[in-house]
Amino acid sequence: MNSAIPPSPCGCDELPPGTLTVEQARERILALVSPVTETRSLPLFEALGHVLAENVVSPVNVPPHRNSAMDGYAVRAADLPAEGTARLAVVGSAWAGRPWPGEVAPGQCVRIMTGAEVPAGADTVIMQEHTEREGDEIVIASGHQPGQNVRQPGEDIRAGDTVLEAGQRLRAAELALLASLGVPEVMVHRKPKVAFFSTGDELVAPGGTLGPGQIYDSNRYAIYGMLRELGVELLDLGVIPDTREAVEQAFHDAAAQADAIVTSGGVSVGDADYVKETLDRLGKVDFWKIAMKPGKPLAFGEVEGACFFGLPGNPVSTLVTFYQFARPALRRLMGERDIPAPLTIRVPAAEPLKKRPGRTDFQRGILERDAEGELVVRSVGQQASHILSGMSRANCFIVLPRESGGVDAGTLVDVQPFEGVLS
Ligand code: AMP
Ligand code: MG
Repeated sequence: MNSAIPPSPCGCDELPPGTLTVEQARERILALVSPVTETRSLPLFEALGHVLAENVVSPVNVPPHRNSAMDGYAVRAADLPAEGTARLAVVGSAWAGRPWPGEVAPGQCVRIMTGAEVPAGADTVIMQEHTEREGDEIVIASGHQPGQNVRQPGEDIRAGDTVLEAGQRLRAAELALLASLGVPEVMVHRKPKVAFFSTGDELVAPGGTLGPGQIYDSNRYAIYGMLRELGVELLDLGVIPDTREAVEQAFHDAAAQADAIVTSGGVSVGDADYVKETLDRLGKVDFWKIAMKPGKPLAFGEVEGACFFGLPGNPVSTLVTFYQFARPALRRLMGERDIPAPLTIRVPAAEPLKKRPGRTDFQRGILERDAEGELVVRSVGQQASHILSGMSRANCFIVLPRESGGVDAGTLVDVQPFEGVLS
């Protein structure tokens, strides 16, 4: 038997003052971001990944004409035998895109292919496998339904129907849907440009040589990857050292060219760099403490007209806070209207999971099937916020609620599959 997560063992349901829950932070951010207003009309191929700026009304019926769902014979329902068999004369062939021009008379039928227009007179299609061909005739047995295997005009979409609404992201299925209506281009929101940079004197770009106490800048690559997956325009401003001038210049450059800015580092309490000080001067930025692990500090607001996300510097925190907060906000900036919370499923933990009550944990997990084929989740192992290898091995977040302590094997836990997070 699976058990549910036990109630808080510490009575620490109250948040420390000035701290937000994950849900509160998410709601606040989404409420404050509005879509890029500029719109443009783009041909379908180019529109992929953009967000519709207006409703699309179908100019046509889909399908446009009655057509066959099967390869077989188009017949008149009145000719179907109630019992025994019937014999019909094959008078022609109808192909997809090449209709048979005549009218099917009583006692006649037409050979028809999938997608071909059902000829006048006929109203039913008998699957080829259910017929016997004898020269220019077919033999059909009883038991067929009048009207079967015929797709009616407008069955999928009727002319005048609103098929897609403003705020809809265009994926492969939407492009296909628009194409099926004969719509060659659509009005979409301009893709926002997002500037990004890393801050920290300790950072060296890959390819460089590490000096004493230095590490390679990994966050800019994480942010680049996550922004690319989202499909925004990118502006890479590199690694910015911890000097007042460099940090200020980077924010000026970013705000002048981009709709949004994503940075990593310099937002935690007691940081020795100039990020906070510069943001206080140039922008309207809130420094939040979020009751989550990893990723407690997060800065969000506006810098010289650009929407700003200051992600924490610890590499796993950068990824987690981007997915939980920056990503939904950037989707809104792109024009999307319905931005659901990440898809969460409940599965049993395959092993005990450690946790202290007080913050929502986003543990890195591996969702897999056990010997019986049931989905279970286990930890990647080390959960500290600098363990990038664990993030790379993970295929999901295990989301353990704020008040929960550690859980036993078999406990049902919430899991956000990365496919769900990314969709
Ligand atoms: P910070 O948020 O700037 O206080 O940084 C917290 C931790 O994350 C420190 O150990 C930093 O060295 C590390 N860190 C900050 N930025 C990066 C980065 N771009 N790549 C890798 N590690 C980073
Ligand atoms: Mg720093």
